[in-house]
Formats: sequence, C-alpha cells, structure tokens
Amino acid sequence: MKYRSILLFGAPGVGKGTQGKVLGVIPNFFHCACGDVFRNLRSDSPLGKIFIEYSSRGQLVPDEQTIELWHQFIVNSTKIGRFHPDHDMLVLDGIPRNVRQAEILRDTLDVQAVFLLRCKDEDKLVERMQRRAIKDNRLDDANLDVILERLKNYEMETMPVLKFYGAHLVHKINADQSPAKVLSDILRIAAKK
Ligand code: ADP
Repeated sequence: MKYRSILLFGAPGVGKGTQGKVLGVIPNFFHCACGDVFRNLRSDSPLGKIFIEYSSRGQLVPDEQTIELWHQFIVNSTKIGRFHPDHDMLVLDGIPRNVRQAEILRDTLDVQAVFLLRCKDEDKLVERMQRRAIKDNRLDDANLDVILERLKNYEMETMPVLKFYGAHLVHKINADQSPAKVLSDILRIAAKK
C-alpha cells in the first residue's frame, strides 16, 4: 500500500514548517517534517551525531539513513495510532529532498500534489533563518555561510525533484503573502485531493 501524500516544497525559511504544522491539526491530515524527526534524535545517539555533523555544515544527511529514519517514524506513528494511512493524507515537509530519495520512495508514496512555496526575496529568507536560529536553537541557522550553503543545496539538489514528479502535480504558491493566505491557497487544492 502506498501512502497518499502531499509534499511541501520550497527553500529553507520559506514557511513550510509553519504551514505543515497548521495542516497537521486538520482531521485526516498527518504532518511529518523530516528535519523535526532528526532534531528529536538524542544528540549522543549514532544517528544524532551524524545529523549534527551534516546539518551544521548545511548539507543533507546521507539518503539511506534518512529514508530509514523517516520510515521508522511513519511505522511508529501508525503503531501508536497517530497516523492512519488508510484515511489520512500524509503532509511531507523536507522529504524527498533530492532525486535519489524520490526514487527510493517511488513505491512508497502516492503523491497527489506538490506545493512549491516561493519567496522572491532571498534576503528575507536569510533574515528569517537567522531569527529562528536564536528562537529554536538551530545550529544550521546560526551562521551565514551555512545558510548560504543550504540555499545553494536547495537549488542544486532539491529543485530537480520537481521535474521528477512532473509539472502536472506542481502548484506554485506565493509565500510572500500572509500565512493565512498561503494556507488558504494550499487548502483550496489539498481539500479536493
Ligand atoms: P529547512 O527546512 O530549514 O531546510 P529542515 O528542518 O527541513 O530545514 O532540515 C534541517 C537539516 O536536516 C537539513 O539541513 C539536513 O541536514 C537534514 N535533513 C532534513 N531532511 C532531510 C532529508 N530528507 N535528507 C537529508 N537530510 C535532511
């Protein structure tokens, strides 16, 4: 059985997490942010150490370990009754993050829509990330070089995933609007899926 899914896409800092959290409280939507799954690891566990090593450089964690951890999270969430794959829509944020991950998940995800959140002003993204570094204690947001590395990796590694799914699934969303308007634009489409 494949998981019916919608994907939140966009550069770091564009507001995927904010939207994902709100969507996740709507009945029959289940939100999974891959970065949060990593951040919830103990920092002294083997994978926790690997996560810190890569994320503090602005790089992606290797694909096998990422997919394995993500899969465990989904299976556990199902077991404890938080996620009901037969009637919930999975809202994915931060995964798949490169074409290889999309390929690995080809037989696992039934992707219904991809929401591409776009912000015209890169300075605004940088500013938001720097603000959240302090608020959320995020090492990967603290340093400007790391932020720029993440924005570069997003262009190089993550953007090609859009082509993998094809234009017919991709919905461009103006992320410069208020969070409520962004949500409304997403829901107008997601509610029909
Ligand atoms: P953002 O949305 O700001 O880019 P995330 O919270 O989604 O940040 O991710 C933080 C870090 O966690 C990433 O920079 C990366 O190191 C790691 N990570 C998250 N998701 C993945 C993924 N699918 N594959 C590899 N690494 C990931």
